[in-house]
Amino acid sequence: MATASITKKRAAKNTKVSHPSRPLKGGKATLKLVPSPGRFGPWGGRYVPETLMAALEELEREYERAKKDPRFKARLSELLKNFAGRPTPLFFARRLSEKLGGPKIYLKREDLLHTGAHKINNCIGQALLVERMGKHRVVAETGAGQHGVATATVCALLGFECVVYMGTEDMRRQELNVFRMRLLGAEVRGVDSGSRTLKDAINEAMRDWVTNVRTTHYLLGSVLGAHPYPTMVRDFHKVIGREARAQILKAEGKLPTTVIACVGGGSNAIGVFYEFIRDKKVKLVGVEAGGRSEKLGDHAARFRGGSPGVLQGTYSYVLQDEAGQIAFTHSVSAGLDYPSIGPEHAWLADSGRAEYVAASDAEALDACKLLAQTEGITPALESAHAVAELIKRAPSMKKSEVVIVNISGRGDKDIGILRENLKLG
Ligand SMILES: *Cc1c(COP(=O)(O)O)cnc(C)c1O
Repeated sequence: MATASITKKRAAKNTKVSHPSRPLKGGKATLKLVPSPGRFGPWGGRYVPETLMAALEELEREYERAKKDPRFKARLSELLKNFAGRPTPLFFARRLSEKLGGPKIYLKREDLLHTGAHKINNCIGQALLVERMGKHRVVAETGAGQHGVATATVCALLGFECVVYMGTEDMRRQELNVFRMRLLGAEVRGVDSGSRTLKDAINEAMRDWVTNVRTTHYLLGSVLGAHPYPTMVRDFHKVIGREARAQILKAEGKLPTTVIACVGGGSNAIGVFYEFIRDKKVKLVGVEAGGRSEKLGDHAARFRGGSPGVLQGTYSYVLQDEAGQIAFTHSVSAGLDYPSIGPEHAWLADSGRAEYVAASDAEALDACKLLAQTEGITPALESAHAVAELIKRAPSMKKSEVVIVNISGRGDKDIGILRENLKLG
């Protein structure tokens, strides 16, 4: 099944691979931006049941066409501008730069977008594809509810039926987002199996998609899943880096030394990284959730404790036990709490083009407070992981250097957790 983690050998033998000529091999590789669609070096691909192949091929075809269609492009940029609020500012954090005593720090303000995070970029893009394909029903899964809310939002905007699968345990923890989705007209279906969390919701959403594939689109929320999702979702987020690159050139007359972003599935990170990949001198740093300890089950740092495997239709680093069962993960930020990582990040890590580190729950909480009190910006706890890495490396950087930190979302949704964890005044 698409959602089971299986070993490399079984993956190669038992599942349909879209580009079987590419070797399934991890480890060191040299950076070449390979043209093979759906594969990033050995990573990515398409590990799904036969019944989904037609839908994935249809989506790929439609996306390839839409990409070249001036009307699609115009509609997309119109909605990004007037509905989502693009372009987002690149803000010079003067007080934080002074305080950390190193480089000039700029913040890419994805937190200012409609619905509070970068996720809307991708949801708008996919919703326009749903329209093109003549479908009228959307399914999605959500953990903390952020992707569910963004999906419900675009479905309301374009008049689609929307069903969001959510573990009942997650529904209990995220009551407010459940209500928000319902207010937007979505149906939230509780999933009562397994651990009653995200991975169980993924299974149910996939099952729904297989059953209703003719009318229904599966709106995936990050650079995960079978081809074409990782490529397509990345393309819908490339606008972050495209804007940031032009904005920093205008403000500083040069490229940044370093770009830092948090990595859950990896969509905001690849979005801000992508336009800088060819600028070899720009350091790209992804920050995973270090959680409460380095023990398996206590974090979501796939590059620290993960190994090659298949989850949700794609081949990447997965946190799993020796039998290939998905491990439990933990992070104070729900958006980073996922056992696998987008396949393009696996490739950027292997090739050495990007570096991946982790920040702990405690470091993220402290970073959140520091940014709030130094700049008047309360970041989402996910984004606070990127700020935590900045705090670690800034003091040893030169004053002439320039850093961009992607603030993927705002902290309003995390106020409850912040209040439980931070002692103030
Ligand atoms: C969902 C979310 C993330 C994690 O998702 P990516 O695909 O890794 O970007 C990060 N930040 C915020 C604010 C989110 O809502």
